[in-house]
Amino acid sequence: MDILRILEKKKQKQELSKEEIKFFVDGIVSNAVADYQASAFLMAVVLNGMTENEVFALTDVMKNSGSVLDFSSLNGTTVDKHSTGGVGDSTTFVVAPIMAALGYKVAKMSGRGLGFTGGTLDKLESYQNMNVALSEEKFLGQVADIGIAISGQSKNICPADKILYSLRDVTATVDSIPLIASSIMSKKLAVAADILVLDVKCGDGSLLGDFERTRELAKLMVKIGKDAGKKVRAILTSMDEPLDSYIGNSLEIEGALAVLNGEKNGLFDVATKICAMMLSMDTGIDQNEAMIKINQVIESKQAYKKFEEMIFAQCGQKVVLPKAKNYGVPINSDKSGYIEKIHTKELGKLVMDMGGGRKFVEDKIDHTIGIKIEKRVGDYVEKGEPIAFAYANNENQLEKALQCKYCYEIGNNKKEKTKLIYEEIC
Ligand code: URA
Repeated sequence: MDILRILEKKKQKQELSKEEIKFFVDGIVSNAVADYQASAFLMAVVLNGMTENEVFALTDVMKNSGSVLDFSSLNGTTVDKHSTGGVGDSTTFVVAPIMAALGYKVAKMSGRGLGFTGGTLDKLESYQNMNVALSEEKFLGQVADIGIAISGQSKNICPADKILYSLRDVTATVDSIPLIASSIMSKKLAVAADILVLDVKCGDGSLLGDFERTRELAKLMVKIGKDAGKKVRAILTSMDEPLDSYIGNSLEIEGALAVLNGEKNGLFDVATKICAMMLSMDTGIDQNEAMIKINQVIESKQAYKKFEEMIFAQCGQKVVLPKAKNYGVPINSDKSGYIEKIHTKELGKLVMDMGGGRKFVEDKIDHTIGIKIEKRVGDYVEKGEPIAFAYANNENQLEKALQCKYCYEIGNNKKEKTKLIYEEIC
């Protein structure tokens, strides 16, 4: 077998065998395939696509390019969720403690934010001394003890995906459905929980933007999971406005804690829907019945206490979130009217620019800053009334936060409230 023949076949839209795909992936990891050859392969996939069999094969060989985590010691049903990334998206901090409080094992491996979407690990590091780099032994031990741990992905998981992903980033080959699906699912199957729900975002602040392509991505990921013998479902949710009102690291945890303390909002709706899907996938009960159990662990504060237990286990101290010096400064609207559109991606970029995210991997994050949106699509705002609130530590950050007015389109048309959950894919 040789790489030129594989590239030639992909260029001619011929189907590659699993052996050929394995030869390519092994070659990336061993350096037998050069970056320019891998880049040619990626561009050929973007232009010519992949058959389902090719995607299943690529996912499987990438999964097996590193270690596969074994949960058999955990003595319980493991659940996992994955979000394709959004703004104000802190569902993990609601879903994980609820499921742990319901007796499931939540061994969650998460990532950092890059670009306009936030990262779960960065948000958790708002807590001083928070350890999000648990060894495999400590990670599994904590899940066995208290049912919940959130940590960074071990370096040995899917090394082939790491190499390909960094090439995709610099060769305009990120937005390909087969490449995204195999990238996400190879990692999810290497850390294979019994039950997986994929929260696939559509709209302004999402990976693919377009609804039909996003649905295609979700369907393909569910098929990959099923082909691998897993219980997997997806929901399509909207990123046409931030999910929670808070955008920013510690602020998003604050928002999640409000939901765990009983607040009902969009974050509650999406997070509890994911939990209901998980419960129903495991036990076969109706999702309305599942919702009753979910509400019980929220009302009894069992879910909130699980979150506290996890923070204590990973940072060894009481749960106290740091706060920005200028906490909740009103950002007033320049005009009266209805909120017709919110540019979600721009809001995410603004918080990143304030220092809440990173442009380069080595950038330091200010965990306390951010924005809380006060008005959503369909709301009316009076001139001079707060449209949002700023959280900043200096004038420069405050100045930037004020720009969030320009992420709103205000007019005379009263729009429908944004529908947050579109459909479930089984
Ligand atoms: N997230 C991933 O892990 N991979 C992709 O290709 C896109 C988003």
